[in-house]
Amino acid sequence: MPPRILAIAIASILVAETILAENIPIELRTGHASHAFDHLGGFADQADAAAKSGATIIYASGVGGLGYSGLPPQNELDATLKRVAAYSAHAKQQGVELAIGYLCATSIVKLDTFDKNWTADFRRQFKTPPAEWRQQDRHGQPLKSWYGGDYAPACMNNPDWRAYQHAMVRYQLETGHEGIFFDNPTVHPQGCYCAHCMRRFGRYYEGHAAKPVGPESTNDIEAIRKLALWDPELFLRFRATIARDFLADMRDFARSINPRALITCNNSLNSPGVLYLQSRLYGYNIYELSKAEDFVVVEDMATQPRTDAKGKTLEYGPTYQQLQAISHGKPIVAVTIAEADYHTAPNLVRLAMAEAAAHNASYLSWPTWPEDQRARMIAAVRPQADFLRRHEALLNEAPFRSDATLFLPFRRWLETEHCTASDLAAPLTKANIQYRTICEDDFKLPELTEKTKVLVVESLAILTSEEKAVAAEFENSGGRIVTANKTDWLDQVRSVVGKPTITLDGPPTVRAVVHDQPTRTIIHLYNLNIRRVSSFDDHVTPAENVTLHAYVPFADPRNIRIESADPETSQQVANVSVIKEPTGTIANFTVPRLQINALVIVEK
Ligand SMILES: [Zn+2]
Repeated sequence: MPPRILAIAIASILVAETILAENIPIELRTGHASHAFDHLGGFADQADAAAKSGATIIYASGVGGLGYSGLPPQNELDATLKRVAAYSAHAKQQGVELAIGYLCATSIVKLDTFDKNWTADFRRQFKTPPAEWRQQDRHGQPLKSWYGGDYAPACMNNPDWRAYQHAMVRYQLETGHEGIFFDNPTVHPQGCYCAHCMRRFGRYYEGHAAKPVGPESTNDIEAIRKLALWDPELFLRFRATIARDFLADMRDFARSINPRALITCNNSLNSPGVLYLQSRLYGYNIYELSKAEDFVVVEDMATQPRTDAKGKTLEYGPTYQQLQAISHGKPIVAVTIAEADYHTAPNLVRLAMAEAAAHNASYLSWPTWPEDQRARMIAAVRPQADFLRRHEALLNEAPFRSDATLFLPFRRWLETEHCTASDLAAPLTKANIQYRTICEDDFKLPELTEKTKVLVVESLAILTSEEKAVAAEFENSGGRIVTANKTDWLDQVRSVVGKPTITLDGPPTVRAVVHDQPTRTIIHLYNLNIRRVSSFDDHVTPAENVTLHAYVPFADPRNIRIESADPETSQQVANVSVIKEPTGTIANFTVPRLQINALVIVEK
């Protein structure tokens, strides 16, 4: 390795990454926040179970269900508002800090009866009947729901639908919710060609088309429809901004009622492989959505961290990295489940919470348990929530150490359904290589040079001419680029990294993630060797004798200690030694037994 690179490597330890922590409300900070849905099928209003299991943020129905059905008669609505307000107040008394109310961003259920209970006063705020609020095809005919059922998809650009949603936001905030979770913020796979979308697309076209040849007037809806057909890629890009603009409008409105109101949505990502595809199909574009959200919620249906029956490990760490790359510094929250079962066994919940925290994110649980499991689940989950909360100071303002940078060219969603960077992130995580992921916004010097010695890109051919120039400068200053279109790319990364930030000798199911603070290095360890037995049972195979060799960014480590919520995990490290090399100081130690999760803290 040329000496220049070593200098870069050491510098990368010392340069603290700027995280916009000052903009993140304290309730959303990693470790402080414990997110939970309070309802699942027949289990409604589970704020008590959520709070007892350590949840501080609940996702409550509130008036969401009434909202998408068009509201009940006034006396029923009044009674519901009263009941919801009492429930929110009760949740706060149990320790819940934020109640986030549910609203569907696009669903009109049972159009025929949607407006039958509206008072004249309520109706007066709309210029058109709900039938005209629906998304429309290229001929202006209403589009059927792509989910099936009684849903008629409303258009998020329709001003009357937005006015209706404002009214629902007001009900939610006035009944004790501090924010809104918008479900289904999606655009029909064909796109919506309603007049409101077309006028907006006309303006978008003027601002974004390479060679605008557009219609002379943005009121010529037919002409803009033709334009959308003529430039399908630009129309696809435009569709990815519709939900973002809707959320921005809802956030402005919510903040006119409560200046601290928070807005998020279901960013979908049902599996890590659909990052690009969901943008193409439904306009679920996390890069755009996260511009308008206060925090980013994703709902994975299969990637709960664990070891499956065949011994294969599943994990969400690589996806957390990618989400951070495209989410503009907003907090990331993920619910990960296994085999489409919304119940998750207790040790798997603890593992998922630990995995999220290691990646500076939060896990969203479903503490919606049958009564005979409730006390047992609360007793199992609570210690991990308390542990993370107690160690909040170690989980924030603690940037990742990275030996490598993975480039996620998110713009490629326009060209392909397949995100190659996702394929590359998984083996990097599995190999315990410390890396960070960046999208095109951060592909620039000097940041690249300061923070990494190896840049992993799927292929040089996907770089823009500006990026190629940056890449050349990066190489000129001693950096190396590994292109992953060769089968031995991971070995190349290892070879260029040379002496890595951390080396782990132990079972292949153990992950280590290294973070730094000015006076300490924090190593998150978690063990994926937990098998799902059923909805409420799992089996942990502890990792024995996990030996670590970790570079620390200071000369004389004073103390190495373990913190863990697991009674079975070793409370002290063994075989401690410190070696000073020309490349830096290495702390060597063994964790004799790792049950689920531990933080190893090496202090200056
Ligand atoms: Zn529309």
